[in-house]
Amino acid sequence: MRIDEALAKSAELKSDSARVDVEHLLCFVLQKGPSYLRTWPEKELTAEQLSQFDSLLVKRSQGTPVAHLTGRRGFWSFDLEVNQHTLIPRPDTETLVEWALELPLNSKASAVDLGTGTGAIGIALALENPAWQVSAVEFVAEAAELARRNAVRLGASNLTVLSGSWFEPLAGQYDLIVSNPPYIDPKDTHLEQGDVRFEPLTALTAEDEGLADLFYIIETAPAYLKGDGWLLLEHGYDQAEQVANKLKQVGFEQVETRQDYGGNPRITGGCWRV
Ligand code: GLN
Repeated sequence: MRIDEALAKSAELKSDSARVDVEHLLCFVLQKGPSYLRTWPEKELTAEQLSQFDSLLVKRSQGTPVAHLTGRRGFWSFDLEVNQHTLIPRPDTETLVEWALELPLNSKASAVDLGTGTGAIGIALALENPAWQVSAVEFVAEAAELARRNAVRLGASNLTVLSGSWFEPLAGQYDLIVSNPPYIDPKDTHLEQGDVRFEPLTALTAEDEGLADLFYIIETAPAYLKGDGWLLLEHGYDQAEQVANKLKQVGFEQVETRQDYGGNPRITGGCWRV
């Protein structure tokens, strides 16, 4: 089978992202970038490549996320290793990284990424600011190992992965705390659709209509923030007001919300003055 014929197999997939999915899978099988597919449409797949491609297509048609099939997902300026132990990084989370990088922090800031998962946010901050010290906290042991592997492979030597629950492994005060915690209501029917079905609930859902972890972080963060330190949180598209109100109630100032790439209010944060 030729590359262009393999790409045409996207017609067999029912997902909305069929064409992109098939391109990703074919690049993975061929170990080439996307431009290769366009440059060599008539190139034949070997028998081995074809059987690998066919079995990936079957798994994809059964719902397995592409990121779980390839074990990789692009985030910010790099590729992360991904597995079933944590959330597949979303492009929307890059909005949080962009905001964090604009904050008026000192050049040797200390930053914390709570519930780092693959390490996505923490690694982006560490690579963009080599003089920062970044602590990435993760509760799930397999995810902490994954974040460590990602940090080492990507050369984020100024990032340390700490195992534990939220603030537990931290000591002292920091200039910046960021988190993309679980925030989906356990009753949300969206959990039965698409890629989220294959992601662990520990990374997705929180009690109190998804607000429990967000509120816990907001209430606890002041003890771990320096004066003029910032807290930025990702949340659900309909949680901005509650998160902003909670931040204000606890005493945060300059509380603001930013939208994700889909135009949904997605990141809310504020500044802690002592
Ligand atoms: N944004 C993700 C989703 O809606 C959830 C991420 C999270 O719970 N932190 O699928």
